[in-house]
Amino acid sequence: MREIGHFIGGKHVAGTSGRTSNVFNPATGEVQATVALASVEDLRAAVENAKAAQPKWAATNPQRRARVFFKFVELLNKHMDELATLLSTEHGKTVEDSKGDIVRGLEVCEFVCGIPHLQKGEFTEGAGPAIDMYSMRQAVGIGAGITPFNFPAMIPMWMFAPAIACGNAFILKPSERDPSVPLRLAELMIEAGLPAGILNVVNGDKAAVDAILTDPDIGAVSFVGSTPIARYVYGTAAMNGKRAQCFGGAKNHMIIMPDADMDQAVNALMGAGYGSAGERCMAISVAVPVGEDTANRLVEKLAPKIESLRIGPYTDEKADMGPLVTKEAYTRVNGLIDRGVEQGAKLVVDGRGFKLQGYEDGYFVGGTLFDHVTPDMDIYKTEIFGPVLSVVRAKNYEEALDLPMKHEYGNGVAIYTRDGDAARDFASRINIGMIGINVPIPVPLAYHSFGGWKASSFGDLNQHGSDSIKFWTKTKTITARWPSGIKDGAEFVMPTMK
Ligand code: NAD
Repeated sequence: MREIGHFIGGKHVAGTSGRTSNVFNPATGEVQATVALASVEDLRAAVENAKAAQPKWAATNPQRRARVFFKFVELLNKHMDELATLLSTEHGKTVEDSKGDIVRGLEVCEFVCGIPHLQKGEFTEGAGPAIDMYSMRQAVGIGAGITPFNFPAMIPMWMFAPAIACGNAFILKPSERDPSVPLRLAELMIEAGLPAGILNVVNGDKAAVDAILTDPDIGAVSFVGSTPIARYVYGTAAMNGKRAQCFGGAKNHMIIMPDADMDQAVNALMGAGYGSAGERCMAISVAVPVGEDTANRLVEKLAPKIESLRIGPYTDEKADMGPLVTKEAYTRVNGLIDRGVEQGAKLVVDGRGFKLQGYEDGYFVGGTLFDHVTPDMDIYKTEIFGPVLSVVRAKNYEEALDLPMKHEYGNGVAIYTRDGDAARDFASRINIGMIGINVPIPVPLAYHSFGGWKASSFGDLNQHGSDSIKFWTKTKTITARWPSGIKDGAEFVMPTMK
C-alpha cells in the first residue's frame, strides 16, 4: 500500500501523528493509498521551515521570483499527462477534465510571472513641502491554503502562486481525498528553482486545519470548501488575528429566456450540469426556463441527452463524466434524489442504481433530471454536488430573477437570451459574484478575480487577479521629508494640507 506523507522543507516526510486516512479509487471503490493526517507538531515543523526560508525569498528581486514561475509553467506542460492521470486516479474525473483543472491553475502561474509589475507600489512626489509619500506592498510572511477535493490542482495553484510570487512562504493543506497532485506540484516547484521551505504541503483533517488557524506565525489563510467549514475557518482565523478569504458552496442557476437559442442552452446545461459529475462549485444545478413553452421545449431536448450521457472510469477516453469522489458522496446524492421524489418533484431521468459493468463497486451516479422543482424542496435549497439538475419553472423574467436573488448562495449564475436589454438588466440587478451571459460556467480568467457573494464567500478579497496580490501583501506607506534643515521646531497640531 502506497503511503502518502507531507512535503516539508523540500523533502517528503512521514509525519508523527500515527493517524491516516484512506485514499480511494472512485471508479472501483478500492483503497489505493493511505495519507498521513498531520499533528500540531507536523504543522509546526512546516512553519519553522517556512519561517527560516521566507526573509531571503522576500528579499529576492521580483524578476527572479517570476522566473521560478516561468520554469514551473514549462514543467507543468511537460508533465501534463502524468499529472492529469494521477489526478483522475484519486478524483475520478476524466483525464481531459483533469487537464482543464491543471491548466486553469497554470494560467494563474502565468499571471504571476508579471509579479514585478503587479507588486509595484505608489508614489506621490511633493505631497507637501519637500515631502514625498510612497507605499509598498510587502509579503504577509507565512500564508496557508486549505483546499477542497474537487480541483486538487487548480485551487492550490490559485493560492500558492500569488502568495509565493509576492514573497511569502506557503503551507498548503490539501483535501485528504486526493492529496497526490498537490505533493507533485510542490516537487515541481523545487525543480523550477524554488528554495526549500517556501512551499510546504501538510496533509490532514480538522486537526491540521485548527493547527493552522491558531498558529501564531501564520498571517493569512485562504480557504475553499463547503460553506459551514468556510464560515468556521473565517471566524476562527479572524479571532486569531489573521486575515482570511474563505470561499464556500454554491447553487448556480441558469435562466433560459423564451428567445434563447435552445440548442445552445441545452448543450451548455449538459456540460455545466454534468461535467465532472456535477462536482464543481460553478456547476449549474438549477435551470430556470421562463414561460411554459420554453420549459417544455427545454425538458424535451434535455432528457434524451441526459439518458445518453457516457459515464465511465477515467481510463475511458470517450466518457463524459466519471464517478463521485467517495462512497459518502454517492450515498448522500442518492439520498437527495430520494428526497426530491418524496417531496413531489417530477423525476424525469433517474440516475439512481446506475451500474457499470466491471466497476460495480465504483461510486457512479447516472445523470438525473428533476422537473417542477419548487423553492421549498431540499433538492433546491441544498448544494447536491452531483449530476443532478433541477428545473424550476418561472412565469416571467421577474420571477426567474427572484430565484437566484433569494437563494442563500451567490457564486455564479447565467442567463441565455438574445435580448441585450434583458442581459444588461440581469447583470446589473443580480446579487451574485460571477455572471455568464450566454456562457454557462463564467469562471473569470486568471487576470480577473474569482469569488462569489452571500454564503459562497466570506472576506473581502477574491482569488487571483489583482485582488490576490492585495490579499497576500501588506501595504506600508512612507512619508519622507528631506528638508535642507528642520527650521520651524516642533509641531503640536495634527498636520493637514491647508
Ligand atoms: P470540505 O468543506 O469538506 O473540505 C474542504 C477542506 O476543509 C478540506 O481540506 C478538508 O480537509 C477541510 N475540512 C473538512 N472538514 C473540516 C472541519 N470540520 N474543520 C476544519 N477543516 C475541515 O469541502 P469538499 O467536499 O472538499 O469540497 C466541496 C465543496 O467545496 C463544495 O461545497 C463546493 O461548492 C466547494 N467549493 C467552492 C469553491 C469556490 O470557489 N467557492 C470552489 C471549489 C469547491
